[in-house]
Amino acid sequence: MPKLAEYRRKRRFAETPEPRGKTAHRDDKVFVVQKHDATRLHYDLRLEVGGVLKSWAVPKGPSLNPGDKRLAVHVEDNPFEYRNFEGTIPEGNYGAGEVIIWDQGTYEPEGALSAAEQLERGELKFRLHGSKLNGSFVLVKLKRSQAKNEWLLIKHRDEHADPMWNVDEHGESVVSGRPLPKTHKEKQKEKRVNTDSSPLNPAELPGARRAPMPSEI
Ligand code: MN
Repeated sequence: MPKLAEYRRKRRFAETPEPRGKTAHRDDKVFVVQKHDATRLHYDLRLEVGGVLKSWAVPKGPSLNPGDKRLAVHVEDNPFEYRNFEGTIPEGNYGAGEVIIWDQGTYEPEGALSAAEQLERGELKFRLHGSKLNGSFVLVKLKRSQAKNEWLLIKHRDEHADPMWNVDEHGESVVSGRPLPKTHKEKQKEKRVNTDSSPLNPAELPGARRAPMPSEI
């Protein structure tokens, strides 16, 4: 099966601004983490291996705390160009919602085996050089898990580890510096809350006229 078949099968490229994708020529070792507000908010960790982006959906996001073991669900390969994708996947399409580039940079596999060989064995040790994520990590496949695609993402103890680190304090795009845009659903909800409970502003009432404070009451 061609490498990107499943990626392409799930998408209608006439409707979504996501790239259709071709495989990379160079073996660039890049990584990206996209924050994706789809049905459920998650972070997509993607590592370039063999010209495509090997991908894991991390519901709670990566952590610099070595005590955190973050579930990382191995999903289909994405095209190399996907590392640059930031935008809106339209309603009704696969993964509909907002995507920002939450972190990006380069990585290097650790140890004697290549990234592809380590992945095959179900344990990849790698070092990230990003804006938010740095240092040594491991992705380890849960061999006893019923679901065959469950891995854990764990930070190794090194000079970049930070037990107090909190993903929510680092929410913005490393490209635009802006947070994830609000979804259509959130905007609708906010509108409802505002119209339901905002206190009346006398100046906005029909017929309201500005007048000096009376000197006696
Ligand atoms: Mn995703």
